Amino acid sequence: MGDQVTVIGGGLAGSEAALAAAREGARVRLYEMRPARMTPAHRTEKLAELVCSTSLGGEGETNAKGLLQAEMRLAGSVVMAAADAARIPAGGALAVDREEFSERVTRAVAEHPLIEVVREEVAAIPEEGPVVLATGPLTSDALADHLRGRFGDHFLAFYDAAAPVVLFESIDMEKCFFAGRYDQSPDYINCPMTEEEYRRFYEVLTRARRHTPHEWEELAFFEGCIPIEELGRRGYRTPLFGPLKPVGIRVPGSGREPFAVVQLRREDRAGRMWSLVGFQTGLKWGDQKELVRAIPGLERAEIVRYGVMHRNTYLNAPRLLGPDLAFREEPRVFAAGVLAGVEGYLESAATGWLAGKNAARSLSGMGSGVPPEASMLGGLVRFLASANPENFQPMNANWGLVPAWPDKLPKKERRRRMFARGLAAFKEWLAREGYALTAA
Ligand SMILES: Cc1cc2nc3c(=O)[nH]c(=O)nc-3n(C[C@H](O)[C@H](O)[C@H](O)COP(=O)(O)OP(=O)(O)OC[C@H]3O[C@@H](n4cnc5c(N)ncnc54)[C@H](O)[C@@H]3O)c2cc1C
Repeated sequence: MGDQVTVIGGGLAGSEAALAAAREGARVRLYEMRPARMTPAHRTEKLAELVCSTSLGGEGETNAKGLLQAEMRLAGSVVMAAADAARIPAGGALAVDREEFSERVTRAVAEHPLIEVVREEVAAIPEEGPVVLATGPLTSDALADHLRGRFGDHFLAFYDAAAPVVLFESIDMEKCFFAGRYDQSPDYINCPMTEEEYRRFYEVLTRARRHTPHEWEELAFFEGCIPIEELGRRGYRTPLFGPLKPVGIRVPGSGREPFAVVQLRREDRAGRMWSLVGFQTGLKWGDQKELVRAIPGLERAEIVRYGVMHRNTYLNAPRLLGPDLAFREEPRVFAAGVLAGVEGYLESAATGWLAGKNAARSLSGMGSGVPPEASMLGGLVRFLASANPENFQPMNANWGLVPAWPDKLPKKERRRRMFARGLAAFKEWLAREGYALTAA
C-alpha cells in the first residue's frame, strides 16, 4: 500500500479525491462500503450519491458558492463536470439530475485506469502510505470508533448543534457594542433589547417553524445545548435565563442593564464571521432569518451559515488538520468532505480534490499545496485549520471566508470584485502548481 493512495469513502469528497490523485499519476485504491453496508441516508450503490437536495448551490459572479464552482471547474473537478453535464433548470442555482449526476461520477472513477474501486467497509486507518479519509456525515460505526480511539472523544462530533453565523459588516454597530459579561474582556458583540423589543422577538420565536428531521436524525437534547425554539416553547421568561440573559452587561452611555441581550462570538480569527451564542436551532431557514432580523442591530444581518441540528460526524479540524488537510500529527493521512468539517456537496468535493492532490504529491516527496487566501477554497481550508476549536462547527462557502473588499462600493460590486480577485488568484496558483487549466 506504500506506493499508492488509499481513499476511504466514495461520496462527493472521496470520488473527487480519487480522480485528483490519479490525475497526479498516483495509483489509487478507493474503498466504498455500499452496497454491502448502506448508510441510513444513501439509497443506491452509486458513487457521489446526492442524499437529499439536488442543488450544488447558487451560481453567478456575486455568489460565494459560484466562486467555488468556478475554481473547481478550473481544477478539472469531476463533480463539476458531471454537474454541468447533468444540469437541470433551477433559476439561479446549479441543480442536477440526481441519477445522471452520480452515474457520470461513478463511470469516471470506475473507468480510470489508475483507480481500483473496492466495495468494502474500512474499520481502521491503513498503516502505510497516503490515506484520504472521506467517509462523510454517516461514517460507519466501526471506523468512527477507531477514529475516536485514535484522536479521543473530544475530536469527533456526532451531531451538529449549530447557531446561525452572520457577517460582521452586516451588523449595525450603532446599536450593538463590544463588551464581556461583568466587564470581562470585550470579546463579544452585544445586541441589547428593551422589554418591547424582547416581546416582539419572542412572538417571532414562538411562531417559527422547525425542519422535520428524518426519524434516525432525531436528537435527544442535552440540557446545555437546547435549541432556542425549545427554550421559547418552555416559557416567555425562559430565554432570559439562558442565551438572552442580561446580567453583567451594561449599555454604554446609560450604564443600565438591558432587559435582554443577544451575544455574538467571533468564528474566525479575522472577525469577519460571528455566531449567535446559544442560538443553536433546527428552525426552517426562512423563519431563522426572520428571527435573527428581529434582534435589534441585526435587522440587515447577512446570514452566511444557518443553524442546524442534525446527526453528523466530523473532526475538530482546527485541532487536528493543517490547511493542506493533512493531520498535523500524521501528515500522510488527510481528511476531506464533511468529516473534515465542511458543509455541503460542493465544499465536500472541493476539499476532496485538494486532499487527493496533496496525498498523491506526498508519494513523490512533493510538498502539499494550499490555495491562496483570496480564493474560496483557500479561505475554506484556512478556516478549518484556524477556527476557534472550542466551538468548532462545520462551515460552507461564504464571503466571510475571504478578505473583505477594501473599498466602499455597493455590495454587488464588491462581491463581483471579490469573485474576480479570487478566481484570478486561484488560476495563478494552479499554474504555479503545474496544472493544465481546464476552463477559461
Ligand atoms: C440526511 C442528510 C441530508 C443532507 N442534505 C444535504 C443537502 O441537501 N445539500 C448538501 O449540500 N449537503 C447535504 N448533506 C450533507 C452531505 O452529506 C454532504 O454535503 C456530502 O454528501 C458530503 O460528502 P462526503 O463525501 O463528505 O460524504 P458522503 O457523500 O456521505 O460520502 C461518504 C461515503 O463514505 C462511505 N463510507 C462511510 N463509512 C465508510 C467506511 N468505514 N468504509 C468505506 N466507506 C464508508 C459512505 O457509504 C459514503 O458513500 C446532507 C447530509 C445528510 C446526512
